[in-house]
Amino acid sequence: MALMGQMMSAPLLISSIIKHAARYYGGTEIVSRRTEGDLHRYTYRECELRARKLAQALGALGVKQGDRVGTLAWNGYRHLEIYYGVSGMGAVCHTINPRLFPEQIAYIVNHAEDGYVFFDLTFLPLVEGVAPHCPNVKGWVLMSDRAHMPAESKAKLLCYEDLIDAQDGNYEWPQFDENQASSLCYTSGTTGNPKGALYSHRSTVLHSYASALPDALGCSARDVILPVVPMFHVNAWGMPYSVPLVGAKLVFPGARLDGASLYELFEQEKVTFSAGVPTVWLGLLQHVQANNLKFSTFRRTVIGGSAVPPAMTRALEALDVEVIHAWGMTEMSPLGTACKLLAKHEALSDADRHKILEKQGRVIYGVDMKIVDGDGKELPWDGKAFGDLMVRGPWIIDRYFRNDANPLVDGWFPTGDVATIDEDGYMQITDRSKDVIKSGGEWISSIDIENVAAAHPAVHMAACISAYHPKWDERPLLVVVKKPNAEVSKEELLKFFEGKVAKWWIPDDVAFVSEIPLTATGKMQKLRLREQFKDYRLPTA
Ligand code: ADP
Repeated sequence: MALMGQMMSAPLLISSIIKHAARYYGGTEIVSRRTEGDLHRYTYRECELRARKLAQALGALGVKQGDRVGTLAWNGYRHLEIYYGVSGMGAVCHTINPRLFPEQIAYIVNHAEDGYVFFDLTFLPLVEGVAPHCPNVKGWVLMSDRAHMPAESKAKLLCYEDLIDAQDGNYEWPQFDENQASSLCYTSGTTGNPKGALYSHRSTVLHSYASALPDALGCSARDVILPVVPMFHVNAWGMPYSVPLVGAKLVFPGARLDGASLYELFEQEKVTFSAGVPTVWLGLLQHVQANNLKFSTFRRTVIGGSAVPPAMTRALEALDVEVIHAWGMTEMSPLGTACKLLAKHEALSDADRHKILEKQGRVIYGVDMKIVDGDGKELPWDGKAFGDLMVRGPWIIDRYFRNDANPLVDGWFPTGDVATIDEDGYMQITDRSKDVIKSGGEWISSIDIENVAAAHPAVHMAACISAYHPKWDERPLLVVVKKPNAEVSKEELLKFFEGKVAKWWIPDDVAFVSEIPLTATGKMQKLRLREQFKDYRLPTA
């Protein structure tokens, strides 16, 4: 008969994280740029007290365990209180991306059956438009005080600070099954309707532990951490949990995500560590370079969500900022891999080390991955063979919320990404399967082409998409936004590719545009670009 361990049984609950932060890092600060326009600061101790009051207020409103509570909000302390107050009481914190179209937002609110939705001042007009289409929402809570409440509204509004003030905070976090749902996040749904990933307390706590490890985000109590990645984008990559878990100072940028505003906050609050998608760093880098600035404390950043162009890594390194390339997805809570060197790599030349650092990296404990061919047969880890990337683990979805279809294949979740894995387990995404360019049956990696283009001094942003070709079926077309005041011709740009990629990978043409459309999560929207260029006639056609 099996011999059972004799350890205490304590469920892994999200409330335990904020309780820990309040008890052991009680005086550590949380600083937020508010939508009201000012800077707010308080401590983990005060945060936890207000989260308890919020849990009481939700109870008074009739919110029960398992009920969904939506948010339309920037990164800020009230949003953090909602993360803990809602999940802590056993309800589900459903973060909604306010950059989606109003129809998509209404769809998501209705699909999730949100009973209440909390929102920042900025989103009042959005709420006014969406509310009539969400008949089941009992109240829309404006995340501000009485003074900021509008005189009248089409939506049934409640005031956040009034809800908090009405409670005494005399509340014990309830204990329940760690497998209960804690939060909900919908994928941006570039095709079809958005789908919900329903996280559990257990999956979230495990993900927080693992993501804080030195070879992942590597956070510590000595850090000052500013998540630029929004709390409505896969829980800001888990940082609202992993940062209080390690007890670091937390800085929230609110709605001001432009380069100048971020730089000011980084310097003023002595930020050491940050995280965001590549397009955000483009803005910050441009500001820093144009004004010849330096960072006094900022030393490390995680970048993911799309491939990091090597030129961006170099530019940040020149400013003494280490770049940690990471990969994941909404369905994975989101962290899957992070790219850090192994001890044996220290002796490598700078160029060889960077070849590794360009990759999306190695799995963190808890995630298992493999690449397979079209028949589902596992492919070798040689850094060359590429195939469909499959993952499994305790913080990866098993199915989508209120959706009967089984997304798994033999117990593995197909990521929709195409990747290689090398002998040391470093994974590199060559493309999203829908973005890959199929030229005469052979595959061209759009990411590789974009990375080369991004290294050209005149290029601000570059997307590589397939364009129709009568002989090869598809050929690469490079769509480029030039840097302000920079000039480069199509011929010069194509010449720049020579010797950097296989000859037949060099794009057939370059289209200069003033802007590349971005998705709600700040990625280049290639689907839209492909539509825009669907009748494009390549000069080679
Ligand atoms: P959505 O799919 O809704 O845009 P996600 O954030 O879940 O939002 O996107 C996950 C996808 O983003 C991955 O499957 C992958 O295609 C892409 N991605 C994430 N990180 C990276 C990265 N470091 N390099 C390349 N692609 C990435």
